[in-house]
Amino acid sequence: MTFQAPKGTFDWMPPRSEWALAVRDALAAPARRAGYGYVETPAFEDTALFARGVGESTDIVTKEMYTFTSRGGQSLTLRPEGTASVMRAVLEHGLYGGPLPIKLWYSGSYFRYERAQAGRYRHFSQVGAEALGAEDPALDAELIVLAMDGYASLGLSGVRLLLNSLGCKECRPAYRAALQDFLRGLDLDEATRNRIEINPLRVLDDKRPEVRAQLDGAPLVTDHLCGACKAYHEEVRGLLTAAGVAYEDDPRLVRGLDYYTRTTFEFLHDGLGAQSAVGGGGRYDGLSEQIGGPALPSVGWALGVDRTVLAMEAEGLLAERPGGVEVFAVPLGEEARRRVFPLVSELRRAGLAVDMAFGGRGVKGAMKAADRSGARYALILGDRDIEAGAVQVKDLTTADQTAVPLAEVVAFLKGKLS
Ligand code: ATP
Ligand code: MG
Repeated sequence: MTFQAPKGTFDWMPPRSEWALAVRDALAAPARRAGYGYVETPAFEDTALFARGVGESTDIVTKEMYTFTSRGGQSLTLRPEGTASVMRAVLEHGLYGGPLPIKLWYSGSYFRYERAQAGRYRHFSQVGAEALGAEDPALDAELIVLAMDGYASLGLSGVRLLLNSLGCKECRPAYRAALQDFLRGLDLDEATRNRIEINPLRVLDDKRPEVRAQLDGAPLVTDHLCGACKAYHEEVRGLLTAAGVAYEDDPRLVRGLDYYTRTTFEFLHDGLGAQSAVGGGGRYDGLSEQIGGPALPSVGWALGVDRTVLAMEAEGLLAERPGGVEVFAVPLGEEARRRVFPLVSELRRAGLAVDMAFGGRGVKGAMKAADRSGARYALILGDRDIEAGAVQVKDLTTADQTAVPLAEVVAFLKGKLS
């Protein structure tokens, strides 16, 4: 019997897996440099945390969660996203009593029972950042700039930023009512009609063409913002422009939860087909209270690692091979292997990336392995070299070969590779 990875999941295998690591590091690096601390929460939580923290009427909660009953009889759910868990951890540890804002970043696996397709998986990976406990347009702008800097550091040039404001407790109810009036007049299926009553903003996010076609005349949230929300949004936009970040206003961009407020944004890449969002986020001033905490206005984002790798591929950025070794040692015979082994260890301790031929293959197979490794240099040691106290250093790009005394190999290669 053989096994395959479950539907909607896949394995990251070398060398492509190196890009997943590189993307994770690159997306987190700007946040780390901006004072965001690392947080790691469990991969599963109390089901009720997500029901309340993500929202009962969302697709995630109604049909995408991996929920199970533990042996102890508790309902648990594999995390479908990171924000609710981070908020839960901040509340549990009482961090809101200390200096604000609390700035945190994280990275890991997320699980959603979705229709599996290119760029949409049931197990996927995100890097996230959240700034909790401050209402300051500079914080919204900071997070957006950090994400754009992360994408740019990977060489991506095709990431677009869509920006909107969803208003607040003051102005949202009137907009919500106006939107409901409009939506009730449309020709929609029963599930969508129910959604109009529970969470009308979600309907604006419907991806089905037959629904989209009817939404053209829908009232726009931007026409209903109160003075404070308008001013806040203007400030965010001004700060983004000052930091050299271009954005497109998209008055239809929504996050469908009631506690999402004000700033909302999405990062799109046009090389990805239907699954074009490489990241998204926004302000969620009501979430803390929703899960039993004090008022804690917050903003954050989550960036998709898998789709970012796909975006890099679409831009031809995966050509260069990441990771790999710089030096590959080829011992010719048993005595040579005994001598090469400590030399390889020494080179690695000196900071070089080094591999060697294993398994007693002939010289041909060993040289093939050296070529395949992507190393710049091969170290070849035969009986004659042992007698001479030297090793052959072969530049695999030019095929030039020089004998280097054993005692000098480390310094020689460090000089060549630095
Ligand atoms: P979409 O509109 O594509 O369903 P979303 O709004 O559900 O995205 P978020 O919950 O905001 O996505 O997650 C942030 C990012 O995580 C997305 O922009 C995307 O890059 C990535 N992501 C979300 N769901 C998946 C998935 N099922 N497979 C791969 N990546 C995903
Ligand atoms: Mg989704």
